[in-house]
Amino acid sequence: MAPAYRRRMLRGMSGRGCSKVACGETAVSTLTYVYADSMAVLGPLSARPEPHSYDLCSRHSQSLSAPQGWQVVRYSALGEVG
Ligand SMILES: [Zn+2]
Repeated sequence: MAPAYRRRMLRGMSGRGCSKVACGETAVSTLTYVYADSMAVLGPLSARPEPHSYDLCSRHSQSLSAPQGWQVVRYSALGEVG
C-alpha cells in the first residue's frame, strides 16, 4: 500500500494513533479503565480523548489484556451509531 494513501487514511479518519509507544497504527477503538468496578472497557473510538482512556489500533485491541483481577468488557461497534 502506498505511503501517500496511508497518510491520507490517518488524517481522514481520526487523526489519532494507537497509544502504545512503539506502535504507529491508526486507533480504531478506545480502552477505558473503570477503576470503581475494576473493568477495562473496550469500545468504539471515542469522539475525543478522555482521562483514563487509551486509543488502540485493531491489533492491540485484540491482544488486550487486563491487570489481574480486572474484567475486560468488549463492545462491538455493530449496531451502534456514533
Ligand atoms: Zn497499536
